[in-house]
Amino acid sequence: MSVSVRIDDRIALITIDNPPVNVTSHAVREGLMAALDEAGAADVGRVILTGAGKTFVAGADAREFSAPPREPHLPDIVARIERFPVPVIAAINGAALGGGLELALACRWRIAAPAATLGLPEVTLGVVPGAGGTQRLPRLTGLPAALSLISEGRIVAAAEALRLGVIDAVDADPVAAARALALTDRPATGDLPAPAAADAAVEAARRQAAKRMPGQIAPLEAIELVAAAARLPLAEGLALERQTFLNLKTSDQAAALRHIFFAERAAAGRGREGGADIRSAVVVGGGTMGSSIAYALAGIGIDVALVETDAAAVERARANVTKLYDDAVRRGKSTPEAAAADREARFTFHAGYDALPAADIAIEAAFEDLDVKRRIFSALDPALPETAVLATNTSYLDVNRIAEGIRNPGRFLGLHFFSPAHVMKLLEVVKARETAPETLATALRLAARLKKIPVLAGVCDGFIGNRILTRYRQTTDILLIEGATPWQVDAAMRGFGMAMGPYEVQDLSGLDIAYANRKRLGWKTKRDFRYIPIADRVVEETGRLGRKTGAGWYDHAEGQASPSALVGRIVEEESARAGIARRSFTDEEIVDRAVTAMIEEGFRILEEGIAEKASDIDLVLVHGYAFPRWRGGPMHHAGRIGLSEIERRLAAFAAADPLSWSVPSLLRRAVEEGRDPDGL
Ligand code: NAD
Repeated sequence: MSVSVRIDDRIALITIDNPPVNVTSHAVREGLMAALDEAGAADVGRVILTGAGKTFVAGADAREFSAPPREPHLPDIVARIERFPVPVIAAINGAALGGGLELALACRWRIAAPAATLGLPEVTLGVVPGAGGTQRLPRLTGLPAALSLISEGRIVAAAEALRLGVIDAVDADPVAAARALALTDRPATGDLPAPAAADAAVEAARRQAAKRMPGQIAPLEAIELVAAAARLPLAEGLALERQTFLNLKTSDQAAALRHIFFAERAAAGRGREGGADIRSAVVVGGGTMGSSIAYALAGIGIDVALVETDAAAVERARANVTKLYDDAVRRGKSTPEAAAADREARFTFHAGYDALPAADIAIEAAFEDLDVKRRIFSALDPALPETAVLATNTSYLDVNRIAEGIRNPGRFLGLHFFSPAHVMKLLEVVKARETAPETLATALRLAARLKKIPVLAGVCDGFIGNRILTRYRQTTDILLIEGATPWQVDAAMRGFGMAMGPYEVQDLSGLDIAYANRKRLGWKTKRDFRYIPIADRVVEETGRLGRKTGAGWYDHAEGQASPSALVGRIVEEESARAGIARRSFTDEEIVDRAVTAMIEEGFRILEEGIAEKASDIDLVLVHGYAFPRWRGGPMHHAGRIGLSEIERRLAAFAAADPLSWSVPSLLRRAVEEGRDPDGL
């Protein structure tokens, strides 16, 4: 039974019961219509609408997203509630999101439980509210608050919703409060006067959306709809909203955002089966990564022994951890007392391996050096129980070689966190040659507890993400030697939707990391490889390592980056030395090459079994490398461009530069079979 009605005391209580989160699936919509019929036929003085369990209504049914709408439509139910002969009161027992909040907005009163959350997050799926949210919410809150809630898809707690005027009251028992409510003569939400126009707020929201969600259509459309609420009669506003909703629903951006949403859900589901529970951990290395991994573990109640090399390094690690707790206090997430108590209770610090507790897992985050890592694991192995899971956070190194020589290698794997590890959702779970299924299950279970998005990866240089990153940078370096400039490449990639361009990113993270990596890979002397010396020259001849040295690809002064004449000269010298006549590139050409390189590498990663499926590659790029979410990741994007077009481009690039490009056989097969990469 997805919707039930109970009538007593001349009150009809309609309960939406569609576990797990009461989405407005077709059955629920039919059930609501039937429930309203029943309440309408009975002699009642009020109707109360609530949800079973912990949720009011969490939104639409994701499984119906791609299908044509089926009657009864949510706007019809919402309209019926608003015009119902007796008042309908929303008793918001938990999350009221999207269509759930739209149902509540059409009710005459809204009473929410203190723990309820409310919002219209449709823009995060590339659409706008489709059942009156953009027209009714501003009638309750005024334009500025509605603009911020709807165009950012912001979800607020009950207390804030009350302050903004979204709801009328907060009550621990909203159904009881709705029963007891003294009814007054109150207009329906849709009959409230149109909100006052607020041109400055609209303009500010447009600017904010362009900055926070550049390239995305839905937030801008949402802003125009909210603004229209001040201008149009309700019926016209609703019609405009519905049309916009239906148009956006079939847009490329909505498809891409849905694709990522489903990929995230599938990834999150991976940690739900089997595996052992981790209660205690050793983290080796207390630098950038080690301290934030340790902090994340402590945050879910895991005891952490943090190992460093000597007393001075231990003190640095302790300071790194303390800083993370201090940051949490500064952001109001913790109090000084709670933070100090938590740190004392969870952490011990060690110089060496002598006094380690018998931990369930050890995660190594020391220097990126094979010998260092191998020495660490040969020390950890006898210091811990033979059953402890052993993990390395290496970015590129061969996980199989790191594991050589340890007892019981089935418990060894890579856990590649992203920086900062306590914030970033992505986790590459790297399966080494001998990693046992239980070890993977335990790692995935830990990932789920850490609320990470785990993606399984096989062993290769850089796994999924850093391998594609390396290829991307190699490709843009080729663009430099052929005639583009770093600043032009950065601007073009930003225009595509990347949060930053590849050279800006290097200036932020340090040119030395990629330099060390190129050295390790032996690019300078590699055969059958197009080596571009520009980046190495910038590091070796100028010592410019990015922002930390005040100069990198760009000159940095007072927080401002400007193109470097010196770098520009090195680029031109290298073109001349290679005998290349520099030519101009359009932004589109730059983007096509860079993105096609990512796609080619993605197909190879799939072909070699490094990734299990194409959508995992998309998750890695979106969550770890700021690839635009609204393009769905490189593999989904390839499907939008069309795989035969990708094949054509690759063949053309390969004809001009056979050392750098070729057509992967998996791509050829996919084109022949007419497959979409989402299904690979
Ligand atoms: P870092 O230099 O900030 O920290 C490394 C720490 O390891 C230092 O505190 C050092 O004292 C300690 N250390 C070195 N040798 C040790 C040993 N034998 N025993 C115990 N401690 C030792 O480096 P980081 O950025 O935190 O990177 C650590 C690892 O994580 C590297 O393998 C790196 O490739 C990987 N990683 C880094 C990032 C990133 O963005 N920084 C992201 C993912 C993975």
